[in-house]
Amino acid sequence: MTVADILAARARIAPQVRRSFAAPSEALSVRVGAPVWLTHEHQQITGAFKLRGATNAVARLPAGTPGVVTASTGNHGRALAHAARARGLRAVVCLSHLVPENKRAAVRALGAEVRVIGHSQDDAQAEAARLAAEAGLALIPPFDHPDVIAGQGTLGLEMAEDVPDAAAVLIPLSGGGLFAGVATAMKALNPGIRAIGVSMRRGAAMAASLRAGHPVAVTEAPTLADSLGGGIGLDNRHTLDAVRALIDDVILLSEAEIAAGIRHLYHHERQIVEGGGAVGVAALLAGRITVRGPVLVPLTGANIDMALHARIIAGHDAHASPEDIPENTPEQETIPPCPPSAS
Ligand SMILES: *Cc1c(COP(=O)(O)O)cnc(C)c1O
Repeated sequence: MTVADILAARARIAPQVRRSFAAPSEALSVRVGAPVWLTHEHQQITGAFKLRGATNAVARLPAGTPGVVTASTGNHGRALAHAARARGLRAVVCLSHLVPENKRAAVRALGAEVRVIGHSQDDAQAEAARLAAEAGLALIPPFDHPDVIAGQGTLGLEMAEDVPDAAAVLIPLSGGGLFAGVATAMKALNPGIRAIGVSMRRGAAMAASLRAGHPVAVTEAPTLADSLGGGIGLDNRHTLDAVRALIDDVILLSEAEIAAGIRHLYHHERQIVEGGGAVGVAALLAGRITVRGPVLVPLTGANIDMALHARIIAGHDAHASPEDIPENTPEQETIPPCPPSAS
């Protein structure tokens, strides 16, 4: 993955995605003591940056590909359904019986077929792989794919152009497709920038894998940053190595800290941002980084359940309701931030 791949992706997807913009945050700049810029990517079509990677991957399919398949229920499934429809391709999204009917309906509303199979994400993934082999559909995973990573990297080009002298960027980190793409682009254009990954403390699979030196499975737990949940794949081929080479620090946040980020964005920036998209702001509010120059914080998604958002804003439950989100287990609490990479 090089910046040339990302520039090529930008030329390919530009007509189908919105360009982001960076807005200064007065409130956060005062608080942090350095200029803070918020990149508005939560206003992307489909409500998250994932449209970039999905659109690039779909554009790169060989002519005659009959369609695409994936097993993601969240922002990637939505983005892929949209990108496939824009090209007139069939899209199949495999979901387990655990995925609620409203989410199935949201995918169907974008014109995708929904296959409900099994009782876990693993079952859904196995079905997606089977359909790929059997029906010749292209399997497009949410992060571990060069075309997906290059597409996500186009956001990094925009951020580097908008704030060329940024000293640090705070990137939400889950499977690492966003981090790998954005950090590749930004470090190419601004070599001195520090790229910091931010995850929730509960089930931070990439942080645990960086520490272990290989992909590890972590216990998945409900979190306000639901779009950052899930593993990196025990057969991870691209993102673990890429993130390891580019990452300068990792910050892991509590549920209360993430809730504070969502609340700040609403009250002070007048933005509705989902938990996974608010972790950068949450890290700043929690005083978890020291910066000596402009900081860039991409707001990566808006797709929060609005009833949950209302509860968080009302301050009823900083931790969501106790039955939604159990207390951290000792096992999850003991994952310390990983050390800065050696490279
Ligand atoms: C998927 C997602 C992320 C994390 O992206 P990865 O490539 O999986 O690391 C961050 N924010 C939002 C809103 C997402 O949907």
